[in-house]
Amino acid sequence: MIGYYEAPPFRPPTEAYSLLIRATRNCSWNRCEFCCMYKGTKLEIRPVEEVKQDILSAKKVAQQIKEWAWRIGDGNQVGMVARANGILWLDEGVVKNVFIGDSNSIIMKTEDFAEIISFLYETFPTLERVTSYGRGKTLVKKSPEELRMLREAGLTRLHVGLETGDEELLEYVKKGATAEEMIIGGRKAIEAGFELSEYVMPGLGGRERWEQHAHGTARVLNEINPHFIRLRTLGLIPGTPLYEKNQRGEFQLQSLEELLIEVRTLIERLTVTSEFVTSDHVANHYMWGVDGKLPQDKARMLETIDAMLERVLCKSGFE
Ligand code: SF4
Repeated sequence: MIGYYEAPPFRPPTEAYSLLIRATRNCSWNRCEFCCMYKGTKLEIRPVEEVKQDILSAKKVAQQIKEWAWRIGDGNQVGMVARANGILWLDEGVVKNVFIGDSNSIIMKTEDFAEIISFLYETFPTLERVTSYGRGKTLVKKSPEELRMLREAGLTRLHVGLETGDEELLEYVKKGATAEEMIIGGRKAIEAGFELSEYVMPGLGGRERWEQHAHGTARVLNEINPHFIRLRTLGLIPGTPLYEKNQRGEFQLQSLEELLIEVRTLIERLTVTSEFVTSDHVANHYMWGVDGKLPQDKARMLETIDAMLERVLCKSGFE
């Protein structure tokens, strides 16, 4: 198999079937206390021509798979042959989705990023969706014209790590943006025409700050009204500052019951018209199935949590 190209090491769960293209390396911030993704590395912005070469290499891979499928008599089953070879981004036989990494590629010079996005559409005319991570703070710094330029080039969706909307907690975990900036950044993305996916981290407030975490997050999400709210529960990772705080007894993790109460509090206070998703990340196993469209599914989602809470309480009563 020929056709080497560089792929980002991380992607959102929803991008499992997307072609992964790396426009920048690592994180422009790198200070969030719960995160270990790019520790010990520095932001690198890749030259546009280098990224274009990667896109052409990916195209070559797609062509090879198609040729191979015809050679073995499965020319009408390109997707199946691609899947069998572990190339999930060709699962439908053509490239439909691309995710551009790493953690904040919108930090690139806007014209350069737009050029990369346009080249993707030229190279893969079947392309329908191009997405990327974007920091709230970077969205604040981009002008509405710059954001529109990216949207017009074909960037369709932004994944933003809100984590929490509580001011004190944002500072405590060194997220590098205030609640107000998260609101402004999110709104600017929507106004520019992007689909916006906001990630929230249940458990980030620990036993001490869970309630303000739920209240502040609901407030910020209500102000933004993103298209998607995705949950990704905190997991303490050795080597991160938050893990060290936990080891010193300064930060305490919640029990499953307490986490369910926190998520319940969040959902109860939401007045958004968003898709609320918990089932796309294994860290949310304790609330599997608490998904739905708000506000119409709110009552069912709360009932599901209540049933889970009953089971958890019942179980702990027998232990
Ligand atoms: S901005 Fe994202 S990738 Fe960077 S340190 Fe924070 S959580 Fe990690």
